[in-house]
Amino acid sequence: MVALWKLMRGVRQLELHRLILALIIFCLLSMAFLAYYVSNSPKIKEAPPLPFSDCGGGGAMAPGLGLGADGPGGQRAPLFLPPRQGWQRQMKTMDVSRTEPLVLVFVESIYSQLGQEVVAILESSRFHYRTEIAPAKGDMPTLTQHNRGRYTLIIYENILKYVNLDAWNRDLIDKYCSEYGVGVIGFFRANENSLLSAQLKGFPLFLHSHLGLRDYRINPNAPLLYITKPNQVEQGILPGDDWTVFQSNHSTYEPVLLASTRSSEGVAHFGSSTVRALHATVVQDLGLHDGIQRVLFGNNLNYWLHKLIFVDAIAYLTGRRLCLSLDRHVLVDVDDIFVGKEGTRMKISDVEALLNAQNKLRTLVPHFTFNLGFSGKFYHTGTDEEDQGDDMLLQHRNDFWWFPHMWSHMQPHLFHNVSVLAEQMRLNRVFAQEHGIPTDMGYAVAPHHSGVYPVHSQLYEAWKSVWNIRVTSTEEYPHLRPARYRRGFIHNGIQVLPRQTCGLFTHTIFYNEYPGGSKELDKSIRGGELFLTVLLNPISIFMTHLSNYGNDRLGLYTFESLVKFVQCWTNLRLQTLPPLQLADKYFEIFPEERDPLWQNPCHDKRHKDIWSKEKTCDRLPKFLIIGPQKTGTTALHSFLSLHPAISSSFPSPVTFEEIQFFSGANYDHGIDWYMDFFPFPSNVSTDFMFEKSANYFDTEAAPKRAAALLPRAKVVAVLINPSDRAYSWYQVGGSGPGPSDPGSQQHHHGRVCCLMNSPVCVQLHIVDGAMLRSKPALVMEGIQRFLSVTPIFNYTQALMFDESKGFWCQRVEGSRSKCLGKSKGRKYPEMSSESRSFLAEYYRDHNVDLLRLLNRLGHPLPSWLRQELQSSSWS
Ligand SMILES: [Zn+2]
Repeated sequence: MVALWKLMRGVRQLELHRLILALIIFCLLSMAFLAYYVSNSPKIKEAPPLPFSDCGGGGAMAPGLGLGADGPGGQRAPLFLPPRQGWQRQMKTMDVSRTEPLVLVFVESIYSQLGQEVVAILESSRFHYRTEIAPAKGDMPTLTQHNRGRYTLIIYENILKYVNLDAWNRDLIDKYCSEYGVGVIGFFRANENSLLSAQLKGFPLFLHSHLGLRDYRINPNAPLLYITKPNQVEQGILPGDDWTVFQSNHSTYEPVLLASTRSSEGVAHFGSSTVRALHATVVQDLGLHDGIQRVLFGNNLNYWLHKLIFVDAIAYLTGRRLCLSLDRHVLVDVDDIFVGKEGTRMKISDVEALLNAQNKLRTLVPHFTFNLGFSGKFYHTGTDEEDQGDDMLLQHRNDFWWFPHMWSHMQPHLFHNVSVLAEQMRLNRVFAQEHGIPTDMGYAVAPHHSGVYPVHSQLYEAWKSVWNIRVTSTEEYPHLRPARYRRGFIHNGIQVLPRQTCGLFTHTIFYNEYPGGSKELDKSIRGGELFLTVLLNPISIFMTHLSNYGNDRLGLYTFESLVKFVQCWTNLRLQTLPPLQLADKYFEIFPEERDPLWQNPCHDKRHKDIWSKEKTCDRLPKFLIIGPQKTGTTALHSFLSLHPAISSSFPSPVTFEEIQFFSGANYDHGIDWYMDFFPFPSNVSTDFMFEKSANYFDTEAAPKRAAALLPRAKVVAVLINPSDRAYSWYQVGGSGPGPSDPGSQQHHHGRVCCLMNSPVCVQLHIVDGAMLRSKPALVMEGIQRFLSVTPIFNYTQALMFDESKGFWCQRVEGSRSKCLGKSKGRKYPEMSSESRSFLAEYYRDHNVDLLRLLNRLGHPLPSWLRQELQSSSWS
């Protein structure tokens, strides 16, 4: 610097030199300042990313252009005939009385990926289905029952399994499809052994495989289009080079999706010119060839557009029987208003952006309103700028909806005392009143989903008393994952709705730091998980956080982009409703979800973490005596109570000493109520607690409920009379299906269990009622072995036959006995022989079912069953 100075002084143009020097110093200083600022500030503030603004694609294929339409300026022969008059968007009519609303899915194996994706979409849509491994030959499942089709749609993961069926089975399935108006969806996936070109066996359809494709478009004339809006082109290269395209001259085939080949040479075997032509990757068979409608995919479901078309194909082929309406309700919750670390909160400009986005969204989504959840304790706890943001939110309070999110963001399950919990809520309510925040929405959300499910009854009580809450939402029922199983329920007058994640969490603040890269967020919006959530759920409540609206405002980016994308590609009608109306709508669409299905909170770590530490899962029975009535279950109960390691539930003062939890209205009280009937076991691993409620045996809901809460519990039934209920108990044994799992799945579990003879399923013990009467010690020994209870208690010593009463009683003090009350063990007059033979006939089918069940379980047959089956007339 000094040398420079001397040099400069040497030259006698001082004025200019001083100026230059000043400039240099200024530059150095500003560089130092910048370096200081960069190293000390957490982030260089970049502009938030811009949401998708237009539909991109453009270049729609005009209807009527003909599908031979080609690239710019080219000429070539049409691949498919021009659209027929009368076929355009015509809805298939279907006689719903002829088939069950059940989908039969032929998968390659129980683990095959495409099969799982098919099932995932069916499950998300709450469509009932049954999977079968596609048989190579023979063994086609029964397709009809009592002149009614068992399936309304058949899906083949691998269409070749269908095409290559032996003549007998193929004829069987095709006859079924044409007679009952059942359609087929099939996927063709080329593998290394597939020919480049081949005819699909028996069809006027050619396949060209191993292609790379680009520029995907939708044929607006495809009749199956319903949700899909056809005026878009997905520009660019399609992933993978294993695409198969279909070619035909038969009028039965209408392309659904078309693309160009990636290389300009086109497909050599088409024999067409060098012009880039459009090739069909998904085609619809209109049934003009053999009377059966089909939809064929030249790839799997990986590409997002295929999922959309798949949903439309299901709707079309089932005459919209398996189909949601076009209405989609979306509610965006912003939890944690005022909660959040300094630097992550909203400033004035962020609140302005929120208001602008809301106005913009309202033009696309009628009534769109951000739903703000506040914790008043954290008001004004940010930087000065952020505190001004808080004030700005309150200034505009009437532009938003509001809900309480607990005063101090505490988890409700940590409060054991209702009044303390209510006090916390009251503080938030006072805060709301002081700041003019509306308090009448009837909706609340618990921090970290705590207390909603598993139910903390104190939360429900406090919510109702302080806020008059009637609706809440959670991700935890029945479990967080998989998200497609999330359901709603109603408990204690509060409607609980499932809540969806949108990929934004408290820590997702910057676009460029999105986990896995910002492309992951965009993928989720552009046909990925977030898009599918809206596609497959008529009502979605999304959870976001205050921090998603500061900094990069990812909340705004995500929802503006999502709405735009949905509107570009689908005919879905997005709208927003306030929570109370939304809940009414939800249970109107899904009335079967009203009743909850309680599970053991300790079987899911997430549930256990949000369950009160003062509660234990040990106060649940290890086995149940399920009845039926009048079979000696009360005697069995008293015999079991003699055992030193076995203890019964406390008697209920209301229902004849039995708890009757799984069978009726008591179930609505929830599991806390149930557990109160059991003592704290002195030793969890060796103490056997049980309860006996005879009406569990013939209550339809009981097996499912018991299996959900006590999946490992063993079950004892006493049989003197035949009944089909034992079979239903056996069916649910241990598989613990979700609350809305289709019955078909339970059936499937049952079958699998029988085939594998799984020990989980063999947890039903059947006691011969006649034997219990005549040789109780022997029966008790069998029960002890079944329960694996130790020590083995000697009932030969403990029981004695009371000659005067005519039945076995407890032995007390040598030769004296202690018997049950008067009403038990009573003798009835002999049944007339007419009645007996009538009943034997009446129950014959059930008896045969029971015989099969017992044989399968490896149980010896009760003597009465053998007699019944011998005496009833076999024809
Ligand atoms: Zn929160």
